[in-house]
Amino acid sequence: MFDLESELVKKREAGLYRSRRVNAAAQGIHSIIDGKQYLSFCSNDYLGLANHPDIKAAFIQAVENYGVGSGAAHLINGHSQLHHDCEQRLAEFTGRDRALLFSNGYMANLAIASALLGRSDLVFQDKLNHASLIDAARLSGAKLLRYRHSDIDQLETQLQDNQTESRKLLMTDAVFSMDGDCADIASISALCARNNVCCMVDEAHGFGVLGEQGGGLLQLLELNQQQVPILMATLGKAVGVAGAFVAGSEALIESLIQQARPYIYTTALPPAISAATLCSLDIIQQQTWRRQKLAELIDYLRQGLSQLPYELMPSKTPIQPIIVGDNHRALELSDGLLAQGVLVSAIRPPTVPVGGARLRITLSASHEKDDIDILLRALVKL
Ligand SMILES: *Cc1c(COP(=O)(O)O)cnc(C)c1O
Repeated sequence: MFDLESELVKKREAGLYRSRRVNAAAQGIHSIIDGKQYLSFCSNDYLGLANHPDIKAAFIQAVENYGVGSGAAHLINGHSQLHHDCEQRLAEFTGRDRALLFSNGYMANLAIASALLGRSDLVFQDKLNHASLIDAARLSGAKLLRYRHSDIDQLETQLQDNQTESRKLLMTDAVFSMDGDCADIASISALCARNNVCCMVDEAHGFGVLGEQGGGLLQLLELNQQQVPILMATLGKAVGVAGAFVAGSEALIESLIQQARPYIYTTALPPAISAATLCSLDIIQQQTWRRQKLAELIDYLRQGLSQLPYELMPSKTPIQPIIVGDNHRALELSDGLLAQGVLVSAIRPPTVPVGGARLRITLSASHEKDDIDILLRALVKL
């Protein structure tokens, strides 16, 4: 059937084979793989909240009160009071009129494009956007135009060349997931406004991490709902829980409820997830030390890495990749670190462009400078 075996062999030969490591520890800076403990630098749990005692307690209490399963989709009878409270809190948190919960970020992105666009419409996207945004454009059937990474001039040209009456949507990562740099949303949203394009920003890696209160890149740049009408963020990364949400105007949220198939035809998340999210949002807002500590760790790591013969990316976020280029070399380095008790995953195409294989180092507020010293010493030995 389909000769799957020979395709798998080819993948392995190209250094593109992926395998899962089984972690026997709770999410945190230490992983236990095959009974051995590793210091890990590859989680998206940027604030160290995935195993926070207060969030766990909120989750457990909600399970006691509401059970585990939600029972049905939101539009049937799966929409619990906890989901509803969480949506209101997320709207307030992001300074938007309303927010809508989704099972995950992938589905939220599919929902946005497929509910708002059809075959005669256009989507503009940065070439380094997350796969879920590209898949969202594909599902919508709209024509996808991609501009070179952060190339605002090319985007402007594309906008000028496509002055149609059809609907136009721009979708971009706020923080690029594999490079760690930020999109120039101020320029992009201004350009969108001038060209009658709706601007959508994916805050998967900005929410919780950036902005005075963790509201994301849009909070940092003080961009409101008029300037960026569609905000999407995930709740499984810095928030440390699971799920995602879209925030924006009343009409946007109501349109998604009425039309978005990835919203309508799926079972709601367990209500306890929303209780945990509510608790996490309080911590994110109040404990500004987590963001300050992250910033210090990022500086410390970059200073250390600048002494090594690797190319550093212009990233001010906890995503600090080391570009290696060759797939096999990236795997070799990752294995070399593993042998020294340090876990950093090798990221290869198609997650990154061909020739752009890398070690994707990510930091957490739970790391200490001593941990970074261990990573740096292990890298020096390679
Ligand atoms: C992780 C990620 C998503 C998907 O979110 P999930 O909740 O993991 O499905 C979407 N967009 C970006 C930029 C991401 O990094």
